Amino acid sequence: MGKIIEPLRGVHDVLPAQAAAWQFLERIAREVFAAYGYEEFRVPIIEQTQLFKRSIGDFTDIVEKEMFSFVDQGDDHITLRPEATAGIVRAVISNGLLRENRLRVWCMGPMFRRERPQAGRYRQFHQIDCEAFGFPGPDIDAEMILLSARLLRRLGLTRVKLLLNSLGTPAARAVYRDRLTAYFGAHEAALDEDSKRRLHGNPLRILDSKNPDMQRIIAGAPLLIDALDPESQQHFESLCAHLKGAGIEYHVEPHLVRGLDYYTRTVFEWTTDALGSQATVCAGGRYDGLVGQLGGAATPGIGWAMGQERIVMLLEKQGLAAVRQQPQVYFVLAGERTEIEGFKLAERLRDAWPDLKLQINVGGGSIKSQFKRADKSGAHYALVLGDDELARGVAALKDLRRDVAQEECAFERISERLGVLLGLKGGVAE
Ligand code: ATP
Ligand code: MG
Repeated sequence: MGKIIEPLRGVHDVLPAQAAAWQFLERIAREVFAAYGYEEFRVPIIEQTQLFKRSIGDFTDIVEKEMFSFVDQGDDHITLRPEATAGIVRAVISNGLLRENRLRVWCMGPMFRRERPQAGRYRQFHQIDCEAFGFPGPDIDAEMILLSARLLRRLGLTRVKLLLNSLGTPAARAVYRDRLTAYFGAHEAALDEDSKRRLHGNPLRILDSKNPDMQRIIAGAPLLIDALDPESQQHFESLCAHLKGAGIEYHVEPHLVRGLDYYTRTVFEWTTDALGSQATVCAGGRYDGLVGQLGGAATPGIGWAMGQERIVMLLEKQGLAAVRQQPQVYFVLAGERTEIEGFKLAERLRDAWPDLKLQINVGGGSIKSQFKRADKSGAHYALVLGDDELARGVAALKDLRRDVAQEECAFERISERLGVLLGLKGGVAE
């Protein structure tokens, strides 16, 4: 026997029993994006390594230690995308989409980061991502946050909280950065290894530390929001006014920074107290410099990304995970010669009712074992065809969930009868 091949560390399978929750999340996301006029954008999973280095920043966790990078047979330096924004910005530039000046798009799919795996933290995970280009004002910041709020609401998630902050302009941030370096420098002996490393590369990232021992020092750090330039201040106030007007509760969190370097002004996160330390379910912000930094014409941008695994965990925790899809009808083939006719009939029924969920018995088996499978499938009805029925041009319909008499139905009437019993729509009864 061959040796079993284990999955890679930190990757996970979405089992058929879990697929309903994922489909529910993805369906609601599609509906909400459509409701706000956002279009889907599908970008590659592999990109040039350069792209992520130049956009995400050298002193970030992602670029420092989390990227899956390799050199392929043609000497190309390739990285599996750790996030979607960089690829979308690259695609927007390389497809000339900014000639129209404005764009609102979304994207969904797998991302890859070589992190230490834990519940809610994987090496291949999935994000729903939303980006807008060409809008400098705070109205788009508000729209994007409202969109994320509506998505969470439509999913039924209530244990979530919106945190908001402004990182100001790059110039204001440079001044703030020096103040932070001085502050943390004065506490250098008490810093953990990660923070020491960040002190001169990117002291803002120290604020993002998840080490509890660091929190006391962080609490005393100067705040960027106190040193904002007047335009950033105004932008932030206007965003807050929009959110208040729309009845969205938010908390200004002056220590909120994001793990990527490209953010300017608005940053925000949706967090939950229901998932332990993997508390952030959605995060985003404005990145006015990124398009220019990647070679495009200077264009403001803003976006967010939602971790699908964490949302599915929340759905499960709150008992909101959708029920697994089950067939409505299980087709029992009880005779020697019923298989060909049975397949023919099943195809005719599917032609007639595009929304009918019918599972036909495959792989033979006694009547008893076929009924066992029918029961296990969750189907409400069994359609039963034996040699005797076949000879008479009928099939039996048996209710598997209620104690009612089995009925017999002529072949040409089965479709109509199923339509009535199951309340099928949109079909053309034969
Ligand atoms: P964290 O602080 O949890 O590491 P991050 O700042 O690295 O998150 P982003 O790059 O902003 O995360 O990604 C947006 C969202 O994607 C996160 O809020 C989270 O829900 C999800 N996410 C990020 N990394 C992972 C991962 N390794 N596994 C599962 N979900 C993830
Ligand atoms: Mg991270």
